[in-house]
Amino acid sequence: MTGTKQYPIPVQLEPFITSNTLIVRSPGRINLIGEHTDYNNGFVLPAAIDKAVYVTIEKNDEEIIFLHSVDFNESVEIKIADIKPVPGHWSTYILGVVDQLIKREHPVLGFKLSIYGDVPLGAGLSSSAAVECAAAFALNELFAFGIERIELAKIAQLAEHEFAGVKCGIMDQFASLFGKKDNVIRLDCRSLAYEYFPLKLDGYKIVLLDSQVKHSLASTEYNVRRSQCESGVAEIKKRYPHVESLRDVSLSMIEECINQDTIIYHRCRYVVEENIRVQEGCIDLLNGNLTAFGEKMFATHIGLSEQYGVSCKELDFLVEAVKNMPAVVGARMMGGGFGGCTINIVEINGVDTLIQSVTEKYHHESGKELKAYVVQIEDGTSLIS
Ligand code: ADP
Ligand code: MG
Repeated sequence: MTGTKQYPIPVQLEPFITSNTLIVRSPGRINLIGEHTDYNNGFVLPAAIDKAVYVTIEKNDEEIIFLHSVDFNESVEIKIADIKPVPGHWSTYILGVVDQLIKREHPVLGFKLSIYGDVPLGAGLSSSAAVECAAAFALNELFAFGIERIELAKIAQLAEHEFAGVKCGIMDQFASLFGKKDNVIRLDCRSLAYEYFPLKLDGYKIVLLDSQVKHSLASTEYNVRRSQCESGVAEIKKRYPHVESLRDVSLSMIEECINQDTIIYHRCRYVVEENIRVQEGCIDLLNGNLTAFGEKMFATHIGLSEQYGVSCKELDFLVEAVKNMPAVVGARMMGGGFGGCTINIVEINGVDTLIQSVTEKYHHESGKELKAYVVQIEDGTSLIS
């Protein structure tokens, strides 16, 4: 696999390191643009960040898995033959990976794994994917299975499906494993073909503003959106039989086939427009035109809020609050919607003022404490020393 990378080993894991220990870092992720496009076979533009999960791992001579979480201050011990999902428990993400490896007939033997991370949990930065990818990468190295990175991503995704019970797409695991410093990844969710584009942030920072809300609508509305997209595809397929997903659809096909007075029209139009924004946004990045890229982020937010209907008043407030600040190049809600973070590209000199002023306004408006994370784009999963 790739070589060892120079990232500092967290002091929290030092007590678990012996001469035989491997240490793996696997990052959380952001998505610059391309929201709700993944399950429509379209494009996304994620990147790995400088918040990560770290594991130490070594073999033992028993058929037993020893897990220790520094953050939860808890240990788990289980025979390999006995592993099963433990819904809601941190160990399930690691055991889910072991389960997938065994299902693929990779001979996992006894091991001891300790885990620590600084990816905020449940904030939309995919800490769960970081855990799965760290575990998959570490086990692959420890037992020299020789599994390719793309297979590790699929193993991690299936662990999330089958043990955590979350039917996610592959973006989060892909971004954690394939991240590259100072680059975003344009991932084609149909073919899994990918390409890196440089995100030159000289003089700018990526700021995440965490609304601290998660409305319970999220999972039901997610399923409704999926079926609305399918209805649109079924309608268009009547005239264009080759169409399999909204990825194969153009704006003119929507105009021709779907009644503009229907909600399906707005849902489908958003997805097709968003795929175009990802493609054009990549050209902006190649041209070093951060201003044009930022405008697309604002346009995405409007689309998610008004056409796709997955924003909420808190996210709209956070985007509205920064929209006219001269230091802000682009801002939008990030992730599935109904809560979580907004992602903002902000001039370095304006970052502190922005955080302070939005925190105050948000508190005044909602009574909630905003959390802000300033992140940078880093490499994906690797051994570290
Ligand atoms: P996210 O959006 O961050 O992926 P999830 O609810 O999908 O939110 O996953 C969060 C869960 O992942 C945590 O509740 C915990 O079980 C696990 N997890 C994340 N980070 C760590 C960590 N550093 N150590 C142990 N478990 C972790
Ligand atoms: Mg998750």
